Amino acid sequence: MMETKRLQYTTEDMETAAALLRSGALVAFPTETVYGLGADARREESVRSIFSAKGRPADNPLIVHIADMDMLQGIVTYIPEIARKLADAFWPGPLTMVLPKAESIPAVTSGGLDTVGVRMPSHPAALALIRMSGCPIAAPSANRSGSPSPTTAKHVLDDMDGRIAAVIDGGQCDVGVESTVICFDDDETIHILRPGLISAEDLEPFAAHVYVDEAVYQQIAADAKVASPGMKYRHYAPHAKIIPVDAPDFAAFAAFVNAQKTDDTYCLLFDSDPEIAGIPCMRYGDNGREQAHYLFLRFRELDEVHAGTVYVRIPDKNGTALSVYNRLMRAAGFEVITL
Ligand code: AMP
Ligand code: MG
Repeated sequence: MMETKRLQYTTEDMETAAALLRSGALVAFPTETVYGLGADARREESVRSIFSAKGRPADNPLIVHIADMDMLQGIVTYIPEIARKLADAFWPGPLTMVLPKAESIPAVTSGGLDTVGVRMPSHPAALALIRMSGCPIAAPSANRSGSPSPTTAKHVLDDMDGRIAAVIDGGQCDVGVESTVICFDDDETIHILRPGLISAEDLEPFAAHVYVDEAVYQQIAADAKVASPGMKYRHYAPHAKIIPVDAPDFAAFAAFVNAQKTDDTYCLLFDSDPEIAGIPCMRYGDNGREQAHYLFLRFRELDEVHAGTVYVRIPDKNGTALSVYNRLMRAAGFEVITL
């Protein structure tokens, strides 16, 4: 165990964080999506320590964070025209593109793949950390593997205190779910590997075809060959049992939960839903943007109150809400109750 430094987004603290990264240490930092756990993406030993601090399977690749297009040139061998257009439109922002990996990025960073996921974050503290350290930063979410991604510095410390050199406190993350991850099947086809704030609809003007990987909607066998290794792991789950309920309306949902309830039953509802008498309820918004912002926060709050079983209203699958649907399904092991 080590002492984890609590840093703020000030020039002095950012210099400390940048020096720690350059020395090979792990620093957690805010991004617009969730908090990342960063190391110099080019240093094998440092990247290895990310996997051990998180307890992350070695075949689950990390995303490399950059601050400008020059840095991109140094870590990939080829930038297709479509990637340049998407970078112009969405970077800095929550879009990760999978591109052919250059030699400078060791295999441990890419989970053994010959491609690398790259993104330019828009959070000013994340951009400053990349610039000040001069390092492309490999960073998965800064949680222990399997638990919900952290959207505050406190969440990071709850999971990582004593395991990492420092965390930069940048307040609550804006988006709340991880970036949209895409790859290109060819120059005209965008393949969404993981949904995020940037939706299929947002990407459609840039390609002849945009499609969503089947692993977003359904459980993938543990031994299956998948385009995006991270998608096969159960993920994002609180200790409570999460049960999404697909109900025709709120009355049907409430009647079902009332019939099932025990002492530690909770509900996770939309903001516009009424109360359910006798059952404690939390709420996570009325649209994809709000639900993305609140989902992981509510998961952690449900653990704090020792919820046993949580019945959840299901978001729709359109636009940004697909990212919420995907995280909820993965927390539930893709098991849904349909009424
Ligand atoms: P996390 O760091 O927890 O946000 O997870 C990053 C996710 O991005 C991984 O779990 C993969 O699903 C995806 N990813 C990163 N790099 C690649 C890659 N080279 N090929 C396919 N998927 C990737
Ligand atoms: Mg993660």
